[in-house]
Amino acid sequence: MATTEAKLTEILKEIVKNYPGEEDRIIKAYEYMASKHGNQKRISGEPYVVHPLLVAQKLANLNMDIVTVVGGFLHDVLEDTDATYEEIAKLFGKDVADIVEGVTKIGKIKFKNIKEAQAENFRKLILATAKDIRVVIVKLADRLHNMKTLGYLRWEKRIRIAEETLEIYAPIAHRLGIWEIKRELEDLSFKYLYPKEYEKVRNFVSQSLENLEEYLKKFVIPKVKEELSKANIKADISYRPKHLYSTWQKTIRKGISLEEVHDLLGVRIVVNSIGECYTVLGIIHNIFKPVPGKFKDYISLPKSNLYQSLHTTVVAHKGRMVEFQIRTEEMHLRAEKGIAAHWAYKEGKDFSRSSEIFSWLRDLVDNIKGSKNPSELLDNLKRDLFSEEVFVFTPHGDLVVLPRGATPVDFAYHIHTEIGNHCAGAKVNGRIVPLNYRLRNGDQVEIITSVAKNPSPDWLKFVVTSRAKTRIKQYLKQLEKERYLSEGRRIFEKIRESLNLSYEELINRIRPNVNFKKEDDLFIALGSGRLSPNKLISLISSRKKEKTEKIKIEGGGKVSVEGLSGIMYEIGRCCNPVPGDEIYGVITRGKGMTLHEKNCSNLRYVMENFPEKVLKADWKPQGKFKTRIRVKAKDRIGILSEITKHIADGGSNIWESFTKTTREGLAIMDFTVDVTDKKHLEKLIKSIETVEGVENCSRLYI
Ligand code: MN
Repeated sequence: MATTEAKLTEILKEIVKNYPGEEDRIIKAYEYMASKHGNQKRISGEPYVVHPLLVAQKLANLNMDIVTVVGGFLHDVLEDTDATYEEIAKLFGKDVADIVEGVTKIGKIKFKNIKEAQAENFRKLILATAKDIRVVIVKLADRLHNMKTLGYLRWEKRIRIAEETLEIYAPIAHRLGIWEIKRELEDLSFKYLYPKEYEKVRNFVSQSLENLEEYLKKFVIPKVKEELSKANIKADISYRPKHLYSTWQKTIRKGISLEEVHDLLGVRIVVNSIGECYTVLGIIHNIFKPVPGKFKDYISLPKSNLYQSLHTTVVAHKGRMVEFQIRTEEMHLRAEKGIAAHWAYKEGKDFSRSSEIFSWLRDLVDNIKGSKNPSELLDNLKRDLFSEEVFVFTPHGDLVVLPRGATPVDFAYHIHTEIGNHCAGAKVNGRIVPLNYRLRNGDQVEIITSVAKNPSPDWLKFVVTSRAKTRIKQYLKQLEKERYLSEGRRIFEKIRESLNLSYEELINRIRPNVNFKKEDDLFIALGSGRLSPNKLISLISSRKKEKTEKIKIEGGGKVSVEGLSGIMYEIGRCCNPVPGDEIYGVITRGKGMTLHEKNCSNLRYVMENFPEKVLKADWKPQGKFKTRIRVKAKDRIGILSEITKHIADGGSNIWESFTKTTREGLAIMDFTVDVTDKKHLEKLIKSIETVEGVENCSRLYI
């Protein structure tokens, strides 16, 4: 298709005609663009200027505003010429410069391995990158013309672009409701991606259409026209073939053959009012027999994108089925141009539908929350369509979707926990940025890691993803745990030294008093301050009455006194009898009985003065029983730890100890220990007496 100079001028004139009063601006844009592109040629061999001119023409046909049309003229100058943003802004205004910049940005997005799941993200990316929705519309017009000249490119490139068009751009056109562009993009992609199927569908449709068209002209249209004029209804009647790609899709979706697709051609009747739509419907149903179940009222119940129309299929002459679509002009405009219809309405100064269009726009684009002032929105349509998300890339060009406000640290944790945990710095688009930098759409992010670098509590102040937050907290908790552990070990060691005990000895003394599973838990408690060293020392050295009794009662012992059994008793604190001792019970008023060992001085006193109160007792409980011993030894370094070791080795716990040194240099050490019985105690005493320097060890009474 050679485009002559004359043809170019003709197109330019046509555009100018659509925008009365804007001739100077349009000519200026064209000339600026032509001078910038100079002698550049398209791969097709045509002068480069043809492309921007045709893109601008498409935008004019969509009734876009003048800013968008000028943007169409200039859309490639930033990328392909020495033009700058500032220059465009100065000559044509900031809006135009922003549109051109936006289109250029989208062009730079790399589409690598478009997987099903990623395709939707790419679509969102494009809509989000273009803060002004007009950017997307220019991009669609640009893509449409590129698709029309795709045949000049190499095979692989054709496939890649056609795939991208079908997966990314056609769905965007669909979402924005711009049917004109969607249809063409799909059919052109279809042609390059599935050439055989395309040819098959095209041949079939064109053959059937010939017949169909003739049929409609002969048997259907005249009849309808006649009836409508009788009813005094002015209507625009047209017919348009269903596009090839959707026809093919229908055969696949419904599992039918091409012959079975009967709505290849639909008759469209456009009238002036909603009332007339229903009148026309009645007329059609009067002329032809409607097919049951084929009538759809999208006027009362619009589709989710606010598409409105009446659809009905009827049986016409010779039993053929024909589909009718009946709608008003406004409905038609919206159905064809989608979002672009907004500018068409604006030209007509009809603002009454503002809120309706707004809600339609809202339905079109998901993820829009928190509505702003609708009229303000309509005035400029500059908004983030996907305000909650930001779309960025890895250095390999993979797309990563993060919540808005995300930082390189969020990005790093998104990639891998280890990358997050060792994130030392970040480069965005090749430049070093601070870690709290807020990522922007299209940023390419590279994380610099270092094994020496670890998460900092400060990161929690700026990360936004829950993943990053959780991982950082986990790390910090672990770090804290390790710190507590080493601090706890240090405290433990100090206590150990001050008590002159071995590690095991100290642990053995703590165990009955403090409930812990692993020794690390004990250290963490000490290190974190939950268990103070003073508290610990007092716990292992104090003697608690309840504990003592608990242990004894657990033994299940009963005392029987001279034939009586099951008598309530207490253990004499003075002598601390153990099983195996010769025992006497002393009856105390209100308390029952207290048990004493035979040699106890208290017992002897009662025996001498109140013999009636003393009874011989038989006591054979099981368990561990506290008692006291006194060790006299030479005071030498390490002797205490040796003695405690012997006690522990003998299977006893130390509950309390008290040490003093006499003037003669003798150490007197009193211990409260627990034993199972008298034999155990005697063995323990003998064992202690083997320690070098111990002069004697004996049971201690008060
Ligand atoms: Mn272009």
